[in-house]
Amino acid sequence: MAGGSRAGEASLILLPQLRLALDAGRPARALVPLQHVVVSHGHMDHVIGLPAWASQRQLNGMPGGTVYVPSSLADLVRELLATCARLEGGKPYGAEVMPISAGQSVALRSGFDMRFFATSHWVETLGCCVEWVRRRLRPELAGTAADELRRRHEEGHAITEEVRTPLLAYLADTGPEVFADQPFLAEVEVLVVECTFLRPSDRERARRFGHMHLDDLAELAPKLHNRHLVLTHLSRRHRLGPGARAIRKALAAALSPELHLLNVEWE
Ligand SMILES: [Zn+2]
Ligand SMILES: [Zn+2]
Repeated sequence: MAGGSRAGEASLILLPQLRLALDAGRPARALVPLQHVVVSHGHMDHVIGLPAWASQRQLNGMPGGTVYVPSSLADLVRELLATCARLEGGKPYGAEVMPISAGQSVALRSGFDMRFFATSHWVETLGCCVEWVRRRLRPELAGTAADELRRRHEEGHAITEEVRTPLLAYLADTGPEVFADQPFLAEVEVLVVECTFLRPSDRERARRFGHMHLDDLAELAPKLHNRHLVLTHLSRRHRLGPGARAIRKALAAALSPELHLLNVEWE
């Protein structure tokens, strides 16, 4: 996983193995080769790198790629891309904009799906979970001879079942309510969640705008069974170094996942 994040400036999470970007908050060279871009919501710190991505792919003769957006924003994102292509005086970009609703699953590539869910931000925002999808022998058939399995299969009986393993969940911008709505978040292997505000005086601000506060994470920490916890979207009210120290201090005692901070100074 690569990328970086800062509230109000830019968030982008790059997963080159899956050719997937989770948000495109600023132009980036490493973003261009990624064929799939999820735009969680319409705030500029999550979307403004998208036209540069589409433009650079066209310039480099690459296929258009696919953009996954909340359905209410699909027409606006198409207009944004069309306007930018006209601004450049060239052909329309080849990117396909796919409207997505909460609850929907989309195949990313063979064996991997993306499942989308609503987060708790102040505008419509989609979270995204990458799932590993595979088939296995139904447990009650364990130990059955191969001939017998073949016979059952030929008679039209289902001998396998689908198994879905949530690998990585990205919550974009959100308040803590999403954790009650989506209990799987406490179990997913890699949880990428924002932690915008740290100071006690910012609790009310966090509630009002649908963001996570460090106190929310400290409360959740003992319940998280993830392997990795990746925090993003630190407010510019906090400097990077002291912010990281405050986060580690508040979570260290109760947290079992390995903690990673993806916050950066962009300049
Ligand atoms: Zn944001
Ligand atoms: Zn936002």
